[in-house]
Amino acid sequence: VSFGFKDVARTEKQGLVRNVFDRSARKYDLMNDLMSLGVHRVWKDITVTKTGPRPGARLIDVAGGTGDIARAWLDRADALTERRGSDQYAEAVVADINEQMLLAGMKRGDRARLDWCTANAEHLPFDDAVADAVTIGFGIRNVTDRIKALKDMRRVLKPGGRFVCLEFSRPTTRPLEKLYDAWSFGAIPQIGDWIAKDRDSYQYLVESIRKFPHQDAFAAELEEAGFARVSVTNLSGGIAAIHMGWKV
Ligand code: SAM
Repeated sequence: VSFGFKDVARTEKQGLVRNVFDRSARKYDLMNDLMSLGVHRVWKDITVTKTGPRPGARLIDVAGGTGDIARAWLDRADALTERRGSDQYAEAVVADINEQMLLAGMKRGDRARLDWCTANAEHLPFDDAVADAVTIGFGIRNVTDRIKALKDMRRVLKPGGRFVCLEFSRPTTRPLEKLYDAWSFGAIPQIGDWIAKDRDSYQYLVESIRKFPHQDAFAAELEEAGFARVSVTNLSGGIAAIHMGWKV
């Protein structure tokens, strides 16, 4: 896949660390399921639909971790390619700052036209205007300079390309907010303690969700970064939201 990057995470370390990653990736998936009661799969599915998979298109999945979004996107694009009898296959690259997540993703099965790249969302190692779509799922919250990252994700999009961000957000009704507070401040750190033996990290996660700007404020940041026709779709009453913007 030629997105213009040089730094590929496929290294010989892969074999040495396989078992460690196996365990952490499995735990990571289990935690995602427990914390969101399995709903994160539906949210990711909706995200992929909004990203417009199609024959011959190119996706960069930033903070892509083990590659859930990129794989689902490629599956959908390839299904369309075959249904239309086209010979144009889509391509995707998973870019993540953490090589261990990438290695765990590769371990799940390499596939054609899916590449892996170590990258910081703030300085993506891709040429300008190479992608039809850029996704970031549950990643923007961890980025230090959000505007810088949003601008760089816009830079790598082709004119007419779309940016789709899935992130935890704010419940839109008071009763749901109360329920959600009880779940996230009470249950999540406890589940983190039991399953991942790491209460502090999950406590941090809950707090980082609270600190993230609400739907409208984050939409304004997309506009500040230069995205056009910015829209917000609340998922599960605003527990998560998809922010979308276009490069025109
Ligand atoms: N997108 C995947 C998913 O939805 O399953 C992974 C989400 S995981 C919660 C967050 C990911 O963001 C991690 O893999 C982490 O390494 C990555 N990340 C954090 N800060 C980053 C940055 N500045 N640039 C790129 N990736 C980053």
